[in-house]
This record gives sequence, structure tokens and C-alpha cells, in this order.
Amino acid sequence: MLCRVQGGIEKTGSGMSPENNHLWNETLAQVREMILPHQYHTWIEHLTFQEQSDRTLILSSPNYFIKEWIDKNYANPLAMAAEKVLGFRPVVEILVEEPPSEPESQTSPQPKQTDALRVEEKKRQSEFEIQLNRNYTFDNFVVGPCNRIGHAAALAVVENPGHAYNPLFLHGSVGLGKTHLMQSICHAMLQRQENAQILYLSCESFVNQFISAIQKGDIETFRYKYRHVDMILIDDIHFLANKERTQDEFFHTFNVLYNAHKQIILSSDAAPKEIPSLEDRLVSRFKWGLVTQMQAPDFETRVAILQRKAKLRNRVLPDKEAQFIASKIDTNMRELEGAVVKVLGYASLANRDVDIPLIQEALSDTLETQQKKITLEHVKDAVVESFGVKLSELQSKRRHKSISHPRQIAMFLARELTDYSLEEVGGYFGGRDHTTVMYAADKIRQNSKIDSTLMATLENLTRQIKKAQG
Ligand code: ADP
Ligand code: MG
Repeated sequence: MLCRVQGGIEKTGSGMSPENNHLWNETLAQVREMILPHQYHTWIEHLTFQEQSDRTLILSSPNYFIKEWIDKNYANPLAMAAEKVLGFRPVVEILVEEPPSEPESQTSPQPKQTDALRVEEKKRQSEFEIQLNRNYTFDNFVVGPCNRIGHAAALAVVENPGHAYNPLFLHGSVGLGKTHLMQSICHAMLQRQENAQILYLSCESFVNQFISAIQKGDIETFRYKYRHVDMILIDDIHFLANKERTQDEFFHTFNVLYNAHKQIILSSDAAPKEIPSLEDRLVSRFKWGLVTQMQAPDFETRVAILQRKAKLRNRVLPDKEAQFIASKIDTNMRELEGAVVKVLGYASLANRDVDIPLIQEALSDTLETQQKKITLEHVKDAVVESFGVKLSELQSKRRHKSISHPRQIAMFLARELTDYSLEEVGGYFGGRDHTTVMYAADKIRQNSKIDSTLMATLENLTRQIKKAQG
């Protein structure tokens, strides 16, 4: 990849060491390029380099809160940045300098699951392409008008798999609980029927395995694996957009499973007919069962979610405080959860009670950006208008420069002006992976330094986007 060459740092055989701090500093500089300045200052700046042992990069953080946050949100950028400097991607391990004073209240919650289930899951781990999150259970799922149908359908599917709603198709934008609900189904099924053959995976993984099966000339093994299950759950099926051959393969998988009354559950960021260039025969099959949209949560549901998330961390968030946060953050569940983590972490660190002034301090970043939040739609609208391309073209696989250039600009602007993750930006602009987005943003950033026309275009678009978002 181009960007690897640019660093100009000699890869020394010995790698990073405390005496050899410039490699770590260079890594930090690379991270800074990938994330927003306030994210860098709030989190990454607290890390200290400890040592590099073989392929592991050991860092330390002053407390658990920062470690958890970085593990969850910045592990990828850190590893990618280190890869640019070291020439290979290290495993990043963050140690904590001080043990927490109240371990129960700061570490992530341990679910109250039976040991039997835990053992069962261990045995079956290999069946899951993605490790199930222990907290994504029906018990932890807050039901409101926004997700009532999806929730009821998920329960019905567990009661009567293959017959209640087949397929079950959940769609809605990011952070509204699609993955949580799908994994709840897996947990519940495993609890009921220990021998059930359940396959839960991301659509990306389905695509990758299909490609590698073709390359190895071993399509039979691939087919066997996907056609001999009791239940298949594929997350983010919109990733099939524009992938004709995989769509064709999936069509046959679907038919085999469906005809055998095996349960199929799919999630997507868009309704079936809105997935770019999805074959009609798939669109119609996806609608055979139940298609339901997960909506943004209303105020009462937001309050309930905030309180549930606090409880999972063995803390109580009083009504007034929960209502205050819910009135400020009205986008999605992921943001709500992020707010709870921040507020509780902040209260622990400062050793203070959770009250409104504390919440205002803890969430000052979020509340500011919340008020003037730029969305991916704002970016898309400006680019579509300025270049005269269509949204479907931006989201297509076309590589012609007339399309790929505006697409790269859109990705760059999305990285600069919004705090969507690389994955989210890639997903929005046609189901591309995070490296494509990184590459695009990097390329535009570098080119704009030497191309004044491009620079002017970017400034112009930025102005338009900020104006549109008011
Ligand atoms: P999606 O797959 O739709 O993007 P996720 O399932 O990943 O969304 O949800 C994002 C976060 O919000 C997760 O941490 C999840 O536990 C939480 N969440 C979403 N919906 C609910 C809900 N109804 N109750 C409790 N937590 C929820
Ligand atoms: Mg998801």
C-alpha cells in the first residue's frame, strides 16, 4: 500500500524500545492522522510506550477506564499506525498502571450466565465466526416502540425456528440493536438446544470465505458448511451489494436452507430493495418472511437504556440524570452506551457523584458535537451535487475516475468532518472495508497538499456541508 512507503522511517531490526522512542513517536503521529484531534487528546495521549516484545506492542494506561475505551475504540487505528512504522501489524496490549480501587464498578460487567451455557459456548466457539458478546442477550435488551416488532419476531423465531418468520430480516441504521438482537437469538437457541447447529457470521466473512473457496478450488466444502446448519444468521447483509457472484451463491444457499425449513436471519442497514444492485430474486426472497425496521429510540426508551447500561456496570443512574442525558443524546443506542461509559468513568476517576454538572463536564465533547452533528448524508449530498454523480454510483463498485475520485473525496470529508468509524464510512459508501477508506482519505489528504485546485474544492465542499447542517 502506498502509505506504507511514505513514513520514511528505517525499519530497524530491533524495533521499538524505550531508548528508541522515535518509532513510538512516529506511531503516535500516524494515529493522529487517523482520528480527530479531540479523540487523540482525550485518549491516546495518555498512553505510554513500555516495550515491544517480538510482535506485541506493550503500552500502559493510567487506569482501566482509558484502557477499556482505547481497546474498544482505537485498537485498530493503533495497530494500523504501528504497522506503518514497523512494517508488520503488532498485537497491541495495554497494561494498567494502577489497579482500580473498586474493581466491580469499573471493569466490564460479568454476566450472570449459567456455567452450563458458558461451557457450551466454549465448546462451540469454532462455530461462530464472530465471538458472541456475552452481554447481547434478550435480558439486556430494552424493548420500546422503536424495536418492539423486531424483538417479538426474534423471540418467535427462538420458539419456532424455521416456521415463525423465515427469513427474519432486520434493517435500520447503525447502533439500533440489530447485532444485539441477532446474538440474543444465538444465546437463547444455545440455551434451549445445545446441539443446534447455528452459524452466525458477518456478511463480509461469507464473501471472503466464498472468494477463498473459489481460489482454492474447493467450493464443495464451502457449500457443505453453509448448507448443513439448523439456523444461519448473517449480519450486515448489505455487504452483498454489487457482488454478483456471491449473491448468486447466497441465492442457492438460501434456497437449500429455506426448503429444508431451516431458519434464516439477516440484518442490513437498508431495506432489501434499497441495497444497491441486489438481484431481484434475492430482494423478493428476503421479503418472504418478516421484514422489520429498527427505529431510533424515543425518549422513554433512551432513559431505560441508559439506566440498564449503568446497571450492567453495577451502578445506578438516577432518573433525573438519565433524563438529562436522554434529552441531549437522541441518535442511537451506541451513543447512549458511550455516554454511560464516559459519565461513570469520569465519576470514578474524579471520585464524585453522578449529577448534572458532572455529566456536563464528562460529556462536553459529545454534547458539543451533538449539537452540530454532520452526518454522512450531508457529505454525500454535497459531493453528489458538486460532481453531478449519483448516489448509486458513489456506492457502486465502479472504478472509473469520474466516480472513484468523488467517492474518495466523500470518504476523506467523512473522516474529517464526522466521527463515524472507518467501517461505518466504508459501509455507507458501498460496503467497502476500512482499509479502502483509510487509503482514500490518506490519498486525498496528501494530494491536497500539492494540488491547489483540489484544496479549493475541499474547502468549498466543507463550507457547503457546514452550511447545510446549519
Ligand atoms: P447495530 O447492529 O444495529 O448497529 P448494535 O446491536 O451493535 O447495533 O447496538 C449498538 C449498541 O447499543 C450495543 O452495545 C447494544 O448492546 C446497544 N443496544 C442497542 N439496542 C439496545 C436495546 N434495545 N437495549 C439495550 N441495548 C441496546
Ligand atoms: Mg451491527
